[in-house]
Amino acid sequence: MVLQLLPKHLQTIYTHAETTYPEECCGIILGNLTSEGKTLVEVMPTENAWNAETAAELPGDDTLDYSKRQRYAIAPQVMLQAQKEARDRKLNIIGIYHSHTDHPAIPSEYDQKLAWQEYSYIIVSVQNGKASDMKSWTLDDSHQFQQEAIEKLG
Ligand SMILES: [Zn+2]
Repeated sequence: MVLQLLPKHLQTIYTHAETTYPEECCGIILGNLTSEGKTLVEVMPTENAWNAETAAELPGDDTLDYSKRQRYAIAPQVMLQAQKEARDRKLNIIGIYHSHTDHPAIPSEYDQKLAWQEYSYIIVSVQNGKASDMKSWTLDDSHQFQQEAIEKLG
């Protein structure tokens, strides 16, 4: 599969990632699904809702040691709102993006544990406050992340 996007989408994600640095940013991507791939239509930046409460609901007792510098969360009500908006506009939620600050654009174990099938997981790496790299990942049948090609249009 290929994820197609426009330069302005890339710019929105990069700007969001640089604004929240050194904390991780996150957001939802809406678009169209075809048999050949996904086309991004809109980037919806969301708030990083990671906090102690979110952490407490997750498995493992090390989660409280993490902050928004290493973790992100999208509030369930924000996700529902995005689903509604997508439906109204005849689009799909095609994935989630988040940033890794001073870390490469490679999914962490935590990212993998929480990932859903079919979504694209865009990760943007922000080094010293500057967004420098972006990769997209999808789960394969054995719940392992595989890199997905990003095609820039326009
Ligand atoms: Zn991550």
